[in-house]
Amino acid sequence: MLHIGCHLSISKGFMHIGKEAASIGADTFQFFTRNPQGGKAKEIDTTDAQKFNDFAKINSFAKIIAHAPYTLNICSDNPQTCEFAEMVFADDLKRMEFVPHNYYNFHPGSHVGQGAEKGVAMIIDLLNRLLTPEQTTTVLLETMSGKGSEVGRSFEELAAIIDGVKLKQKMGVCLDTCHVFAAGYDIVNDLDGVFAEFDKVIGLPYLKAVHLNDSMMPFGSNKDRHAKIGAGEIGQAALERFVRHPAVKDLSMILETPNDLAGYAAEIKMMRAAAEK
Ligand code: FE
Ligand code: FE
Ligand code: ZN
Repeated sequence: MLHIGCHLSISKGFMHIGKEAASIGADTFQFFTRNPQGGKAKEIDTTDAQKFNDFAKINSFAKIIAHAPYTLNICSDNPQTCEFAEMVFADDLKRMEFVPHNYYNFHPGSHVGQGAEKGVAMIIDLLNRLLTPEQTTTVLLETMSGKGSEVGRSFEELAAIIDGVKLKQKMGVCLDTCHVFAAGYDIVNDLDGVFAEFDKVIGLPYLKAVHLNDSMMPFGSNKDRHAKIGAGEIGQAALERFVRHPAVKDLSMILETPNDLAGYAAEIKMMRAAAEK
């Protein structure tokens, strides 16, 4: 069965978001751990989190995804930005243990001219400081579109990060269809080839989750603009083939398309039907 959901607001707590997800036919979802600009996180209501853990189990939810704030930049050239990123990352990992055995996804960051190699090294250092054998959370690197000095624009860069991390069993990758398409991976005409490349460079066992988005911007544009399913350059047929591919079987898939709740419900229904075809 396809595990699919969308990005939702956690402002009213885990139980609220769980019920909201279930109400639109989702069996997973994504939320920001704190305001995407990176402010202070709300205190976790442990009773609410526990209730959600039971709810997720009863309703056979797939793993949910916590998304780090967009502004988190581990490989900045500003030491204060790096320090803040580390503080947020450590705090988020601690908080994730209230909803154990799920995913924490982050954008590797922007090296701001220091070079991808330096960026990769800084990300590895932070992960080796913060990951612990006891944590139940798997940390996901998101594939990026390659705008500006973004790290994670190629499978090679993500593989280099994982390669340097000691606790590899705590690491995974979240493939964003809009981002990889913009980065020049042809998921429209050569989906098998892209997954073969992923397997060769990173290893398919590291593929844990998907951000399912169409792309407003053309192939190879290195621009990050999400479109509704079928309203972009990837197109509905290619995304339907994507969800049917054996490489993504059983992964948590998250829509980050510009939609309201009804729009998400319709896309979830559409993708579930496509997966059954
Ligand atoms: Fe993201
Ligand atoms: Fe994404
Ligand atoms: Zn994006």
